[in-house]
Amino acid sequence: MKNVLFDEQCELCEAARFTHWYYEDEVCWVADCEACSTPMVVWKSHGTTPETDEVNWMLARLTEAGVCRFGHGVGSLDRIMRQIPDHFHAHFRDPHWLSRRWTEAPSQYSGVGGERQLLT
Ligand SMILES: [Zn+2]
Ligand SMILES: [Zn+2]
Repeated sequence: MKNVLFDEQCELCEAARFTHWYYEDEVCWVADCEACSTPMVVWKSHGTTPETDEVNWMLARLTEAGVCRFGHGVGSLDRIMRQIPDHFHAHFRDPHWLSRRWTEAPSQYSGVGGERQLLT
């Protein structure tokens, strides 16, 4: 196992489990983003330079979560790191993500994988 960097000020390092988690392994986790409620993959090490094969692995797991959430052929990867530019993460956004965040209840954590449950 390589060095995993951790920054205690960083929200993504904190990895709080509030929303639905689609997937987790030693490289990354995939969960609904607390801000935009779309699937987001987060590297488990604080930094912006995962290996190419790790990037490919993470984007593949994120795409799986996107397909699981929205169906085949809906939405696309968004690799721009707007809020937290110093920790590698990526979103999978469907075309309605901007409006849906106001109209749909956020998901809640119910273990990794399994059925996606909304906050009631
Ligand atoms: Zn987000
Ligand atoms: Zn971090």
